[in-house]
Amino acid sequence: MSTIESQDPVLWEAMQSEAARQQEGLELIASENYTSKAIMEAAGSVLTNKYAEGYPGRRYYGGCQYVDVVESLALDRAKELFGAEAANVQPHSGSQANAAVYLAALDVGDTVLGLDLAQGGHLTHGMKLNMSGRLYNFVSYGVDEKDHRLDFDQLAKLAREHKPKLIVAGASAYPREIPHAKFKEIADEVGAKLLVDMAHYAGLVAAKIHDDPVPLADYVTTTTHKTLRGPRGGLILCKSENLPLVNRNVFPGTQGGPLMHVIAGKAICFGEAMTDAYRAYGQAVVDNAKSLADTLMAAGLRLVSGGTDNHLVLVDVTTVGLGGKQAEAVLDACGITVNMNMIPFDQRKPMDPSGIRIGTPALTTRGMGTTEMQRIGNWIHQSLSNPEDSALHESIRGEIREMCTNFPVPAASGQTCG
Ligand code: PLP
Repeated sequence: MSTIESQDPVLWEAMQSEAARQQEGLELIASENYTSKAIMEAAGSVLTNKYAEGYPGRRYYGGCQYVDVVESLALDRAKELFGAEAANVQPHSGSQANAAVYLAALDVGDTVLGLDLAQGGHLTHGMKLNMSGRLYNFVSYGVDEKDHRLDFDQLAKLAREHKPKLIVAGASAYPREIPHAKFKEIADEVGAKLLVDMAHYAGLVAAKIHDDPVPLADYVTTTTHKTLRGPRGGLILCKSENLPLVNRNVFPGTQGGPLMHVIAGKAICFGEAMTDAYRAYGQAVVDNAKSLADTLMAAGLRLVSGGTDNHLVLVDVTTVGLGGKQAEAVLDACGITVNMNMIPFDQRKPMDPSGIRIGTPALTTRGMGTTEMQRIGNWIHQSLSNPEDSALHESIRGEIREMCTNFPVPAASGQTCG
């Protein structure tokens, strides 16, 4: 019996239900993944007991000799994996990584260009309620109305007009490869610094199948838990000259003690991402997304930008007469987890937009391939075309549960760690 089970059965039951949900359903949230068992063990290890404010060799607490080894390993591997001059592995999340870079690169009130949230950007790229939008003067750029690709003519025009101190590249819901050199060219022309937030596609950069922002950008931020497949957290890569300011603005600028158990998980993640097996995984993520996109389009669904180059597709569900909220609920009833999402030039509201976002990183980790993607694409189309047919949803749910038994989750939470 697990200690949690005997000590806190109510909590244990919720954890078990979540473990079953992860095993029996299809996790297609583009920002989610399944970590390895080793990472799960690190995240649940004794390292959670240690305070270690400061940086390796320069701590404000005693007893840090072993966590110094852990953090130094994570730093060395992050730099090696991405070919970066310098790194900070302490941000608790992607949002805090971005916050620290903003504090390092900007003064309050400075002008920044970021991708419009409604066209694929992230909350931390200038949303009014986020600290980014509250402290800085963010101006949004967008995508082209016809092909839904980043509109670099508009970006250049806005940059010349507003003379930003920083340009933020990167996105949460953009199904195409991001050409970083175009951002760099525009940033250089107007004398702006460049931050690339590669949170979504960092794993594809690590696998060397996505354009690499590290040689070009002044700062690169990422989460470690999306395509990269590590523990939940953030990472900053930068030029050596920017490291002192970055470090100061992570700790003490935005955080206190680092999460050493998570940093250990990051070290394992960076090690895993340097392997041939991981590179093959990255390619499979993209192949799977293409296969899913082709299946959905062949069934008549409209995809934003007409397809995908990366790990995600954005589906306009109004083509089958639904809103995103209902589509998410219908798929949930079948055991398929996605999230509703705004699509470019959406006529609907964020709480019931026109789209859903679907990503392949998690299912690819479970070993599913293009054959499974075709089946999944057909289930998605069938269920969305029959949103009231609960018997159909139940039958799809059964087929999915059966398929999932052949693709176990690598480290089932609450069952195999520790
Ligand atoms: N940046 C981008 C592009 C993201 O998509 C996300 C998360 O969805 C973040 C930053 C923030 O990451 P976190 O949720 O860890 O704060």
